[in-house]
Amino acid sequence: MPIESRNPYTGRVERRFRAFSWSKTERILTQSHRAAATWRTTPFAERTRLMRRAAELLRERQDELAHLMAVEMGKPIADGRAEAVKCALCCDYYAEHAEQFLADDIIKTEARRSFISHEPIGVVLAIMPWNFPFWQVVRFAAPALMAGNVGLLKHASNVPQCALALEKIFHDAGFPPATFRTLLIGSDLIEPLIADDRVRAVTLTGSEAAGAQVAATAGRYIKKTVLELGGSDAFIVLADADIEVAAKTAAQARMINAGQSCIAAKRFIVEKPVLKEFISKMKTHLLAFRPGDPLSEGTQYGPLARPDLADELTEQVNDSIKQGAKVELHGGQSQPGTALFRPMILSNIRPGQRAYDEELFGPVALVLEAKDADDAVRLANDSRFGLGGSVWTADVERGEALARRVEAGAVFVNSLVKSAPEMPFGGVKKSGYGRELSYLGIREFVNQKSIWIA
Ligand code: NDP
Repeated sequence: MPIESRNPYTGRVERRFRAFSWSKTERILTQSHRAAATWRTTPFAERTRLMRRAAELLRERQDELAHLMAVEMGKPIADGRAEAVKCALCCDYYAEHAEQFLADDIIKTEARRSFISHEPIGVVLAIMPWNFPFWQVVRFAAPALMAGNVGLLKHASNVPQCALALEKIFHDAGFPPATFRTLLIGSDLIEPLIADDRVRAVTLTGSEAAGAQVAATAGRYIKKTVLELGGSDAFIVLADADIEVAAKTAAQARMINAGQSCIAAKRFIVEKPVLKEFISKMKTHLLAFRPGDPLSEGTQYGPLARPDLADELTEQVNDSIKQGAKVELHGGQSQPGTALFRPMILSNIRPGQRAYDEELFGPVALVLEAKDADDAVRLANDSRFGLGGSVWTADVERGEALARRVEAGAVFVNSLVKSAPEMPFGGVKKSGYGRELSYLGIREFVNQKSIWIA
């Protein structure tokens, strides 16, 4: 794929970049590896000072960053600002807590003193997607840098300007330049990078296919990986729920980032007595979302990030309809090769249909009928994915009990699924493994060393 910014709303190429050669990439790796040796000894107070400055810069530059997101991947400008501010919160969070999260864990043994120390491992390669071009990277970079590691970013090929803007933020904040570098490379250079002994671990957010390939390569070279892959989150609505609130939130949850979010609600599993009411209310709320130019203030959803992603989604929808899905709300692309995709609702979703078996990464809501709460949990768990999920009910205790039975990395009761710096984020099954955010996230890429003093 060429490394270029192509505005998905206008189709215009904004900027093209020449991909780094292997020799340039290797030179940067050499510098990063060298920087890791000194960065690991930099006191927490200094790391904290720089991370707080990065947070300030993210806030100060939110308009500029939002503009880049709008023109590179179609995110509405207001959502882009919110993403920049959320990144700042994450930087502040790790600036404040990293030292405490990585403090020695004293363990009682027969030794005079024994404890676990959490030490940096060195250069970590981050392979990141375009959907939240700043947030996905910052939730890796903030804990990694605070832990004393060094980051190399291979961002998605359609968001090079976002990748460079983030590198500049860390550099302008005062981080030694080689502690965070953006590599403008295609995926062909990933294997030699992972093979290099100086790269100690890899984190990837993206598709199952990319995750499987990167994890296989990392396995061959004995490198740890964290994978955050797709999801097909269940949104379970019980008959006693407030259907108006549930339907309104359902529409919001499906429309996050024009439907291109791993934790967007995708399968709406609704108890039979309230199914019709739910579909009708959700339809009204989905139709109220305003499409348009991502650069216009009033736009609530823009195009998908690339026309090929919209073409692929159309294929999934058309195949599912041929396989028996029923269209409750018409929408989709106006013509092939265009990126704008209007929201749709499909019902009668059955095993064997692409909509049942695959992730639909765009604004297509799938509605499934459940006989009762047990059936709803069965349907929720009958998925290859297990990232997030939510349960809607007036009975919070029952909601909590059901939440425990849903196979996912996160389940919310009466709330839209979202990520927060304090809570771990990650999946089970084909949604990946490992955790980002919280104290667990910062402990993924450290040497948890046992020290025993006899
Ligand atoms: P990809 O998984 O292909 O891209 C994500 C990142 O992985 C990019 O940096 C990409 O680089 C890189 N990559 C892709 N293939 C390889 C490989 N073989 N080895 C190393 N790195 C690789 O996502 P797409 O953009 O193609 O989107 C396709 C689907 O992926 C979506 O429809 C959605 O289902 C899923 N997805 C999930 C996301 C999530 O948040 N979990 C985010 C984005 C996509 P490059 O851009 O250069 O190919």
